[in-house]
Amino acid sequence: MKNVAVIGAGTMGNGIAHTFAQSGFKVQLIDVSEAALKKGIDTIAKNLDRMVAKEKISETQKEETLGNITTFTNITEGVEYASLVVEAATENLDLKLNIFKQLDEACPDDTILATNTSSISITQIAAVTSRPEMVIGMHFMNPVPIMKLIEIIRGYNTSDKITNLVMDISKVLGKIPVEVNDYPGFVANRILMPMLNESVETLYNGVAGVKEIDTVLKLGMAHPMGPLQLADFIGLDVCLSILNVMYDGFKNPKYAPCPLLVNMVRAGKLGIKSGEGFYDYSESKKAETVAKQFLN
Ligand code: NAD
Repeated sequence: MKNVAVIGAGTMGNGIAHTFAQSGFKVQLIDVSEAALKKGIDTIAKNLDRMVAKEKISETQKEETLGNITTFTNITEGVEYASLVVEAATENLDLKLNIFKQLDEACPDDTILATNTSSISITQIAAVTSRPEMVIGMHFMNPVPIMKLIEIIRGYNTSDKITNLVMDISKVLGKIPVEVNDYPGFVANRILMPMLNESVETLYNGVAGVKEIDTVLKLGMAHPMGPLQLADFIGLDVCLSILNVMYDGFKNPKYAPCPLLVNMVRAGKLGIKSGEGFYDYSESKKAETVAKQFLN
C-alpha cells in the first residue's frame, strides 16, 4: 500500500496527511477549498520546520515528506490510485454521506474507505456504499503528528481482514491503534464528554469556580489540563454536538448536555476559537488566561 488519499485539509486532515507522508506514503490531499489546501500545506511545512529545529528529523526528511504530498480540489482525480482513503472533512452527516457515495463510485473496488469522524456512525456511513465491509473509522487525535492513539472503529459490517489491515497500517505510522465497536461516542468521547459535561454541571450548580474545578482535576487526578480548559480547547460547540449524538443514540438522560453549555454555545462563546469560553482568550491563547466568573 503506497497511495493514500486524505479528504479535507483542515485541522485533522493536514495532520493526517503529514503523518502518512512522513512514513513514506504518497498522499493525495483533497479539499474543496484551494485556500484550505494552501493553509494545510503551510501548516505541515511549519510543523516539519519545528521538528527539524528539535532535531527529530533532518532537512532531507522534511523535503521528502513535503514531496510526498500532492493536492487536489477534485475528489475523483485525487482518489484514482488510492489504496486507502481517510476522510477528514467537516463534521456533518449529509456532507459525509455524500462524500462516501462519491468515493464508492470513484475509487477502485479494493480501496479501503476510512473516516476520522468524532461522532457519526460508521455503520450509517458504510450503508451508503456498495462495500460496507471495507468502511472503517480511523479516529486520530489532535494534534495528529504528536498524539499516539488511533481509535479504530469497526462498523457493523466491517470485515476482520480490513480491520487487521488498518491496525497494521496504523502501526507503520508509529501510532498505537485500539480496536473498538461502533456505538455513539465510540470509547474516547463516550468517557471524555460526560466528564466534561459533569464539570460544566458542577460549575452550573455553584459548587466551585472555573479555576477551582480545573485545579482539582489537574492536581488531584494528574490531568495535564483541567476539564473546562479542555472543553474550551476542543470547542464548546463540538462538545455539545457530540453529547447530543450520544443523548439521541442511547436515549439516556445521563448524556443530556448541561443547560449552561447549551447557553454558552447559543451565545457564541465557543472556547479558544471564538476568543471566550470558560476562560478569556482575548489577550492570549495560552493556559494562563483569566478564568471567567460564573459564581455570584
Ligand atoms: P476543519 O473544519 O478544520 O476542516 C474541515 C475541512 O474539510 C475544511 O478545510 C473544508 O474545506 C473541508 N471540506 C468540507 N467539505 C469538503 C468536501 N466535500 N470535500 C473535501 N473537503 C471538504 O475540521 P477538523 O477539525 O479537521 O475535523 C475534520 C473531521 O475530523 C471531523 O469529522 C471531526 O469530527 C474529526 N475530528 C476532529 C478532531 C479535532 O480535534 N478537531 C479530533 C478528532 C476527529
